[in-house]
Amino acid sequence: MKSNAEHSADLTIVGAGAAGIEAAKIAQENGARVILLEGNDRPHGRINTDSHFVEHGAEFLHGVQSKTWEHVKEYGLTTISDGDVKNSYVYMEGKVQKNNQCEILIAKIREKAREHLSTKGETSADRIIKQVLHNLDIPEELKSTIRGAIESEYGARLRNLGLPGLQEPSSFEEENFRLEEGYSALLQRMSEGLDIRLHQNVQRIDWGNDVELTTGTGETFRSKGVISTIPAGILKQQPDLFMKPLPPEKIEAFGRIGVGEVWKIIATFRKRIWKEDMAVLRTPLLTQVWWPAHWGRSKPAPILTALIGANGVKKFGQSEDEASRIAFEELKLMFGASKVENALENIDVIPWTLDPHIRTGYSYLPPHANGIRKTLAEPVDGKLFFAGEATDPEAGTVHGAFNSGERAALEFLRSS
Ligand SMILES: Cc1cc2nc3c(=O)[nH]c(=O)nc-3n(C[C@H](O)[C@H](O)[C@H](O)COP(=O)(O)OP(=O)(O)OC[C@H]3O[C@@H](n4cnc5c(N)ncnc54)[C@H](O)[C@@H]3O)c2cc1C
Repeated sequence: MKSNAEHSADLTIVGAGAAGIEAAKIAQENGARVILLEGNDRPHGRINTDSHFVEHGAEFLHGVQSKTWEHVKEYGLTTISDGDVKNSYVYMEGKVQKNNQCEILIAKIREKAREHLSTKGETSADRIIKQVLHNLDIPEELKSTIRGAIESEYGARLRNLGLPGLQEPSSFEEENFRLEEGYSALLQRMSEGLDIRLHQNVQRIDWGNDVELTTGTGETFRSKGVISTIPAGILKQQPDLFMKPLPPEKIEAFGRIGVGEVWKIIATFRKRIWKEDMAVLRTPLLTQVWWPAHWGRSKPAPILTALIGANGVKKFGQSEDEASRIAFEELKLMFGASKVENALENIDVIPWTLDPHIRTGYSYLPPHANGIRKTLAEPVDGKLFFAGEATDPEAGTVHGAFNSGERAALEFLRSS
């Protein structure tokens, strides 16, 4: 419904995902009146835990050092350690088998990328991956599995991913954890006391002495500053959001940042048809990487999640039905048709690139783009501040989004 209501605050924040909520919490704790505008009908952006504790978006806390842990401790949440590499499986030679060569070889590829970058400079991840895999006496399908695993991790075609990109975020090489209560519970607790307005899709951002935002409902929001956490996938498609020209280097950075294509598939079974100790299953098939959604829980439900990036997603042709059909066929191939047909209850597809408010899984750095995250983060005219995972070196993660929210909130507080 259209309205011409006018609202005011010290700070407006666009987007109630991890970055926006962190920024709002810090600004509000420092005395600012904050309104968070969220275009969707639910908050939390790329974090969405369903009623069965299955994560449709972010799932893991990467490493033990990140800002996320401060919040986990503050709210007394419980973490579950992910299985170690001894619990890795691959689908190879027609069967699902225990094999941790993928983890070992991906670590080797990252090492080689670091070495190449320091001695010879930039190139595409594809070149380094080919170099490492070329001379190895391992089956071709294991090589495809490794390529698929990296595509799923970055949502990028390997020729489009740069070497600094392949090393982001640093925490990818550390241990992973899940939250027993689910990631949404963390954001819910962080949101207590915040003024979050749903269905407020910001369509115009104008600024002079004040900042004025207009949303799809026709309402306007006036404030001293704005923090945009709008994902890179949206900013690329909506350059007319800003009513005055942005600095050319910022426009160029929006143009160059990689918008990772990532979908999730959730397969719910009546009973488990995989080995109990299987923590992850990598495959040369289109569905790339699967894992039990409830790994490490005391009473795990028989649910498998697949994380699919780039070429895998392309083959779905924007169709959720096609993704579901492919997942069904590939599950039958891996575990046996009759087992899957008897045990499978349903398949849900989470097509992040089709979400009109997100349009990506996570951002990535293409070759020769080192430094653009810093440009994306630069404030404009002391009024516009930029946060969101794409603006942080720990990009593609929840803790990167938290870091960026904190940085932008402090920039706003210093400027006002
Ligand atoms: C499938 C998947 C798996 C992932 N796995 C992990 C993982 O295991 N571990 C990890 O750490 N990270 C993971 N990530 C990444 C992590 O989810 C993101 O980095 C992080 O949640 C991004 O937070 P954000 O606040 O930057 O952006 P978002 O969460 O995207 O928030 C931006 C918000 O802005 C809103 N918005 C957009 N445009 C407008 C507008 N014009 N007006 C108003 N609102 C608008 C959107 O609706 C959204 O709510 C995963 C992501 C995906 C998609």
